[in-house]
Amino acid sequence: MSNKKYYDILGVSRDADVNEIKKAYRKLAMQYHPDKNPGDKSAEEKFKELSEAYAVLSDPQKRRQYDQFGQTGNMRSGGGFEGGFVDPFDIFREVFGGGFGDIFGMGGTSRRHSGAKKGADLQIRLKLTLEEIFSGTTKKIKIKKHIMCEACKGTGASPGTSHITCQTCHGRGEVAYRQGFFTVTQTCQACGGEGKIIEKPCLECNGEGRKRGDATIEVNIPAGVAEGQYLPVRGAGNSGPKGGPNGDVIVVFEEEPHEVFERHGDDIVYNLYIGFTQAVIGEELEVPTLNGKAKINLAAGTQSGKILRMRGKGMPHLNSYGAGDQLIRVHVWTPTKLNAKEKELIKQLSEQENMFPKKDDKSFFERMKEAIL
Ligand SMILES: [Zn+2]
Ligand SMILES: [Zn+2]
Repeated sequence: MSNKKYYDILGVSRDADVNEIKKAYRKLAMQYHPDKNPGDKSAEEKFKELSEAYAVLSDPQKRRQYDQFGQTGNMRSGGGFEGGFVDPFDIFREVFGGGFGDIFGMGGTSRRHSGAKKGADLQIRLKLTLEEIFSGTTKKIKIKKHIMCEACKGTGASPGTSHITCQTCHGRGEVAYRQGFFTVTQTCQACGGEGKIIEKPCLECNGEGRKRGDATIEVNIPAGVAEGQYLPVRGAGNSGPKGGPNGDVIVVFEEEPHEVFERHGDDIVYNLYIGFTQAVIGEELEVPTLNGKAKINLAAGTQSGKILRMRGKGMPHLNSYGAGDQLIRVHVWTPTKLNAKEKELIKQLSEQENMFPKKDDKSFFERMKEAIL
């Protein structure tokens, strides 16, 4: 179902306006409606394609997205995606109005679509490391789901046998009975509203058309995604009963805590611990980043709590250019065990003039205020 050319499917030009698109859809949808082409799989496929094309091209926002990216359902940084499954019969009803049965001379009974229900969506949680999120990655994930039964090709009928019209409702899918003055209509119990029943159920799947199985899906994760965001993999979910279309797999991202980095939006925070002599004298240091090691310059007289900013060394922005920053939070470490010689040296130092903060050191006190906020 990839690489669909929505304009070609509807037979309209790329600059067709909404009315032309609607007109094209009306004409073709009438022609290919499954009720007009019973048992014709290719007409049913075509009908689905038409609906999908119409759903996208008739929606200005989705159409713009399709024109730009060639697909809908792109990720947005806000968390979440556009798009979603559209029921071709809902679209048809929407365009033609409620009693579409009349169009085909069926006296207005709205028919169900012969049991071809969409399979359920599956939600899975996917743990990602910050490194994986930084570079973007492809993951193969094993899932358990309903897959189409190969023996009956999803029909639920034993190979060589077919569906027969339900005798209880004579193919209508519903039965009417009188209750006092009223006629009550109810879904036919014998066929579950499908109007037809399986002559001999497939033994592999007990007539379900699908069975439990394993599948591996491949998910392409763009760089910069965040915890809680999700990505739908269209058509990778549960197979629908009796040959119905597949549901989707919704992949929800989880961020694994990192040993040394904290993520704040697209900024990455790294805590740097230095000795007080380094803080006093200054030094060129190497620090880790998500993209390997990088050098920073620790200025002489660096205070504890100072934040150094490495521009563009953070997480790439999702769906736009550039990246966040890496912030280095400096902590000056105080030694706890000293030998006699060290103690003596410190004592000598402590008698020197510049070893204690002075009230007029504005830069220091301002910074302390910042650190508290
Ligand atoms: Zn089967
Ligand atoms: Zn029936």
